[in-house]
Amino acid sequence: MFLFTFVSILGMNFHTCTDRQSNLPATLQQDRGLGQQRAAMVREQLEGEGISDTAVLRAMREVPRHLFVPEEFLDLAYADRPLPIGYDQTISQPYIVGLMTELLALKRGDKVLEIGTGSGYQAAVLAEIADSVWSIEIIEPLATSARERLQHLGYERVNVRWGDGYLGWPEHAPFDGIIVTAAAEQIPEPLLQQLKDGGRMVIPVGAAFSIQNLVLVEKRGDAVNRRNVAAVRFVPLTRQK
Ligand code: SAH
Repeated sequence: MFLFTFVSILGMNFHTCTDRQSNLPATLQQDRGLGQQRAAMVREQLEGEGISDTAVLRAMREVPRHLFVPEEFLDLAYADRPLPIGYDQTISQPYIVGLMTELLALKRGDKVLEIGTGSGYQAAVLAEIADSVWSIEIIEPLATSARERLQHLGYERVNVRWGDGYLGWPEHAPFDGIIVTAAAEQIPEPLLQQLKDGGRMVIPVGAAFSIQNLVLVEKRGDAVNRRNVAAVRFVPLTRQK
């Protein structure tokens, strides 16, 4: 009711104000529409498909995914599909983000490493649940824009670094959870080493541009358990030359 009143008052100014101000009602209405699309995304694409961790559902209801996709894809921000983010990279489809986050089984206080920052969307979802997120991106302009976007949105607990994530982030290891959002031919040894005892890693494993396995890795003492969870298709994990 309040919002409606606010919109109509602004609407009355519509004809008399400058262009900048006259855009406001449209923006507010758009935000409201996008909020409804986001709620529907969580209901249909996540809950409807078996994601049940309440922390994950809450996080994905919070993070404004439409601010992480290029403007020309605004209409598709909440669609059940991955989207291009430039430099031949993609932001994963919402279900995959939800599934990977759920598999990590994060708790408040946890420290998470992400390889493949991309747009920063997955990092924001992680930061809604965990204590700190350390995210590495190999394409410099993506690292810079994700860092700026996350700062602007107030995600102070996400730290973005430009570099080769294959090597992990030893200065901040060990991590309770590690999530790799690009496909590796094998599980990188440095990442296994930087996983805490009792920690979990989620990583797509397989050849580039083919069907890969989403693998859940659990480390217990010297034992490393692997379980294939789903067939997926990710962009490849590349190496810095
Ligand atoms: N998690 C991202 C999607 C990532 S797409 C999001 O939420 O938007 C995969 C990303 O992994 C791409 O941005 C790609 O540049 C990056 N990448 C590929 N190899 C990498 C490596 N060795 N280290 C760090 N990032 C890498």
